[in-house]
Amino acid sequence: MIIRQVAEAFQALEGTTKRLEMSRILASLFRATPKEEVDKLIYILDGRLGPPYTALDFGVDEKFLIVALADAARASRSRVEEIYKKKGDLGLAAEELLRGAGRGLNFREAFEALSRVAEATGPRAHERKTAIISDLLQRSSGLEARYIVRILQGRLRLGVGDAMVMDALSEAVVGDRSVRADIERAYSICSDLGLIGRILFIDGPRALEQIRPQVGRPILSALAERLPTPQVVIDKMGPVQAEPKYDGLRLQLHKDGDNVRFFTRRLEDVTGMFPELAKAARQQLKSERAIVDGEALVYNPETGEYLPFQITVRRKRKYGIEEMELRYPLRYFAFDLLYVDDQDLTRKPLTQRRRQLEALVQRHVDDPIQVTEQITTGDPKALERYFVDQVALGLEGLVVKKPDSTYQAGQRSFNWVKLKRAYRAELRDTVDLAVVGYLVGKGKRAQFGIGSLLAAVYDPEHERFRTITKIGSGLTEVEWAEMRRMLDENRTPTRPPQVDSLIEPDVWSWPKYVLEVQADEITRSPRHTCGKTGDEPGYALRFPRVVTFRWDKRPEDATTEKEILEMYSMQTATEVEKPRRVAGGRKRAA
Ligand code: AMP
Repeated sequence: MIIRQVAEAFQALEGTTKRLEMSRILASLFRATPKEEVDKLIYILDGRLGPPYTALDFGVDEKFLIVALADAARASRSRVEEIYKKKGDLGLAAEELLRGAGRGLNFREAFEALSRVAEATGPRAHERKTAIISDLLQRSSGLEARYIVRILQGRLRLGVGDAMVMDALSEAVVGDRSVRADIERAYSICSDLGLIGRILFIDGPRALEQIRPQVGRPILSALAERLPTPQVVIDKMGPVQAEPKYDGLRLQLHKDGDNVRFFTRRLEDVTGMFPELAKAARQQLKSERAIVDGEALVYNPETGEYLPFQITVRRKRKYGIEEMELRYPLRYFAFDLLYVDDQDLTRKPLTQRRRQLEALVQRHVDDPIQVTEQITTGDPKALERYFVDQVALGLEGLVVKKPDSTYQAGQRSFNWVKLKRAYRAELRDTVDLAVVGYLVGKGKRAQFGIGSLLAAVYDPEHERFRTITKIGSGLTEVEWAEMRRMLDENRTPTRPPQVDSLIEPDVWSWPKYVLEVQADEITRSPRHTCGKTGDEPGYALRFPRVVTFRWDKRPEDATTEKEILEMYSMQTATEVEKPRRVAGGRKRAA
């Protein structure tokens, strides 16, 4: 396949925001792609060269690209910079500078050249990278150069998410959505859409059934729903297994002999950051091969107290790891076992997985890897007591699980339910929001050029971000400046196609970052699009403030619109109860 076809399809994708139309364009591109290249195309659509957990960084910055572009276009650097400034986008500048028709560059060749750029390391790597990019651009047409440059910048931004790739794959292979569910199931087990595309096109949809958990390939994390009170939990779920909810970092542990790796829920390989946990896994896990789900958090060995996510996140470092290990010692709480030796446990009931987990982990009180404690109960009062005990210990609350449930990879379901401090009125829950832009504002911070952030929830079914609040507090001055730099790096001249908003911020930013936000309550508001239908108002947050930056979450992991509606109805339910508790039952101000 020549790269022109790919570039033209990308241009068509950029030209529409209609999901059906986009998925049709993608499906016909997949059909036109040779079977052996489908995986590469899927990775490129995500701006990568492989699945998220293996993909290499290109290691090129803007300065580099300008040099390579000047070289390819036989223009001076200042001319490239001038056009870049005029266009505001380096891809468009490349398009203007390289107006030729291109030389029929092959998609496979372009992919290989990009791989060589990523792989070039060591002394003189910069020069080698520049030479490969310059050569690639010389052989490209203007339109092709637009996308090659954006891929290298990590800014392809076609608005194509995993869900749309899955829709289009099903369309391309069987002409309708009938294998979409099978694709999703397989994806949740291997997290590699490229591999799935390849299997679909080469071996056909039935071959997807053979995808099994494999050590080294992260499994998508099971997620929890919310319920308001212990009573509702028991009414809805029956007897449950309840565990403390740790406010740490979700880590999936993969062990293959001495080779131990850790993946975050956004599928990043973070093995290098946690050497002491890898060492502990080699010593404490008794089987050769295993995939364990759990939460890592920093604790204070003097007091035995566990510290919040904001502290645990300080362990996200590429350098100075040994110092970090001493300053911020970690505990890993294993709560699930998905695979052991050659046995796939994802389809087995929780009770069996738990039994095997306890047998797998050899542990003494002070060992870094522990298994979460748990109680099993069908009594709301006992559940309430356990909840209060955990909150008193400084934990977030409980995660309650159905004892007979399978592991629902990648799904938020009522097999797991979080019962957080929120349901006690005096302690409030937090939400995770994607930042989609910022407003300059008029206050003190206007001099820094950033006054508030426009933040949104996610609607996974329609792949849309809908605004819920503007946030103007919770960050230090240094953090505001940093936030502005990050958002400027991702700015786009117009509203990103996947964002619904009635508010026009001063700067739009491609959804990339997630903030954990605390607010006093959820209110109805005509200004926000979260939950808005027709002329009815949407939902907004009152007095929002940033708690912490969630680097472990993708924008698609933000709190969903549906969760906000549920939280709103839980909030109104507890508000109704409140006056009954107050003697005289005075009405609350509206
Ligand atoms: P949330 O991030 O608020 O949606 O809550 C779900 C998260 O709680 C999971 O993704 C885990 O990172 C975390 N968690 C903490 N303790 C547990 C536990 N015992 N079982 C399952 N998840 C837990």
